[in-house]
Amino acid sequence: MDRYIKKHFAVYAVTVAMGMIFAAVNIYIAFLLNQVIDVVMERDFSAFFHMIGKTILYFICITVCHYLYLFFVKLTIKKVLRDLRYDVFKGVLSRSYHDFHSVNTADYISAITNDINILEESYFTPFLYGIQQVCIFSGALIALLSLSLAITFCLILCVLLAMFFPGLYSKVLQKKQRDYSCQLSSFTKVSKDYYNGFEVIKSFGLVPVFLRKFYIENKLLASVKMKKDNAFNFNESISFFFSFFSQLLILLFGAYLILSDHITMGMLVAIIQLSGNFVNPISNIMQAFSKVKSTCPIRDKLTEYAGCFRENHARHDRFVFRDKIILHNVSFCYGDNCNFHLQSINLSIKKGGKYAIIGASGSGKSTLVNLITGRENNYTGEILIDNIPASEIDEITRNELIAVNHQDIFLFEGTVKDNITLFRDYRKEQLDAALIKSGVMKFLPELNEAIDTYVGENGNKLSGGQKQRIALARSFLQEKQILILDEATSAIDMETGFEIENELLHDSGLTLITITHRLSSELLSQYDQIFLLEKGIIIGTGSYEDVMNHKSMSGLSC
Ligand code: ADP
Ligand code: MG
Repeated sequence: MDRYIKKHFAVYAVTVAMGMIFAAVNIYIAFLLNQVIDVVMERDFSAFFHMIGKTILYFICITVCHYLYLFFVKLTIKKVLRDLRYDVFKGVLSRSYHDFHSVNTADYISAITNDINILEESYFTPFLYGIQQVCIFSGALIALLSLSLAITFCLILCVLLAMFFPGLYSKVLQKKQRDYSCQLSSFTKVSKDYYNGFEVIKSFGLVPVFLRKFYIENKLLASVKMKKDNAFNFNESISFFFSFFSQLLILLFGAYLILSDHITMGMLVAIIQLSGNFVNPISNIMQAFSKVKSTCPIRDKLTEYAGCFRENHARHDRFVFRDKIILHNVSFCYGDNCNFHLQSINLSIKKGGKYAIIGASGSGKSTLVNLITGRENNYTGEILIDNIPASEIDEITRNELIAVNHQDIFLFEGTVKDNITLFRDYRKEQLDAALIKSGVMKFLPELNEAIDTYVGENGNKLSGGQKQRIALARSFLQEKQILILDEATSAIDMETGFEIENELLHDSGLTLITITHRLSSELLSQYDQIFLLEKGIIIGTGSYEDVMNHKSMSGLSC
């Protein structure tokens, strides 16, 4: 977190300076009280009226200082949290596909919302507040030493006692803070899941079931928060006790010093005021310290997320695919228990070639595509792109080379155009060509505002087929050299789907890999090679006729 403070050092320095000024003005009230009471005791009216003017001026001054101090605290927090949130988001987006999916997305959301709020409340605010309290404490110490040495030492003794306890308790606070952050993350995960399942919940009459589930989660969150708050409250009460105890002690000790003519009444009032400025900051600093320490696990987590970002200074020349992709003896399975196994895959994808992968659901077609595109890297065997091991080609280059269109489409909140151009600028002719090729042009007149129609959350205002066509237009616009369609036209009507695929098959420069369930002989016979997958093994390969013969012999159905 230090680097964020360093980055905004100027505003941070002004905040500290304001804290010091505010502390000094705060301390001065003790001397003001001393003067007022001594003037009153001497029954000096003209000096008393002079003190009234001075007091009014003092209160104007302390109010302005207080406001400026709070303003700069919030300004520092604003700048630091803004950068931290940005870095966490940047770090998460820099994760590999595999790492990204190893954590639930709700956890990432919780990190840039809940965890950032916790850091504001329990790290940055107490930290900056703590600095100001240190200034008040130091000022009060100097002032007290100038008034009474004996009382100052008595106070220091109380303070040492007050410091002892929070130090012991900080581990407990850390644990409670970590539990709360975990529970917040799990609560975000569950709520997100339930909202996403709205359709299912309603149509299957599950509202009471999910209300009950939510009730339990909500209760758990409230109880974990209560436990955390209780731990902090206990810590606060102990600090309060020591602060109260020491002030009482000073009052009695001070009264004794008046009786023995060592100090005046005005001095006692000033000492009591200063002892508050001395003891309270200590208990505040201890509490702030406990809070700051308790956020350690959250800071570690956010630093890890933010740290995933690697500046990529390498210049990227466009990778020109010239020859072929080769998979040699490639095997892969998901996770440790290896429920599914892609075994000894051997295939070759030539530049400009057209390939279809067919096979029953769950046979490993999408997994095979994930290996080619680098979504999954933990395979054995060799994947070579133009004789370069795929693992040596970085993610950005590979993504620039290959476009993948899946069956399920994600659309951003925005217009049809936003979702096709992906917020970049293209020439009108380029855009129109993509709209025609993908079949989007066909349905644009049906939309209220044509290409500027708002698609709703994840495109919920569009049909499945329209969404798939938007995704195709998106890929065509980027003119990638290799196009993979993973059942990407499954929701599009037969005629349009046929036209799109047919046109792609006639694009001689394009390397096309299609995963399809539509076994149209007219289309499949145009492919150079078809791979038939069964339970993670390629059991047939060749032309459409070869594979169909094999398929009918093995009795497969897609
Ligand atoms: P297809 O595309 O042929 O329908 P997939 O390649 O998607 O099949 O899936 C093949 C098998 O791998 C299935 O049994 C599926 O359950 C499993 N699988 C797919 N993705 C994952 C994953 N991320 N983690 C674990 N298992 C997975
Ligand atoms: Mg699939």
